[in-house]
Amino acid sequence: MNHSEDCIFCKIVAGDIPSAKVYEDENVYAFLDLSQVTKGHTLVIPKHHTRNIYETPPEVAQSFFGSVPKVASAIKEAFQPVGLNLLNNNEEAAGQSVFHLHIHLIPRYGKGDGFE
Ligand code: 5GP
Ligand code: ZN
Repeated sequence: MNHSEDCIFCKIVAGDIPSAKVYEDENVYAFLDLSQVTKGHTLVIPKHHTRNIYETPPEVAQSFFGSVPKVASAIKEAFQPVGLNLLNNNEEAAGQSVFHLHIHLIPRYGKGDGFE
């Protein structure tokens, strides 16, 4: 499993930085975003360090994306939203601020839920 010493998300996977776990399996780790856009805003990351979608080897992509529906189900069960947005930023110009591949899962609760 690829690991980057100076990556905060690798430190979260290793347990060196605390996080609120939402889901975990062999390939992915999902945890609450520090800054909650809506209640239950979650990030899912591959345990294998990769900068973003461009640098992700096919086998890592396959296991990572294969687990995303399980994270969505875990969020649905825990927070009972009425909808869910998935968002993935790649490179600074697209809003990426942490350079370890991740998908935002943003639970939706209807009009005025804070995510416009
Ligand atoms: P990006 O802007 O790269 O798509 O998203 C990075 C996200 O990581 C941001 O929404 C930010 O709030 C979140 N984040 C940054 N550092 C930490 C951290 O140490 N713990 C958690 N739980 N979230 C973090
Ligand atoms: Zn990393």
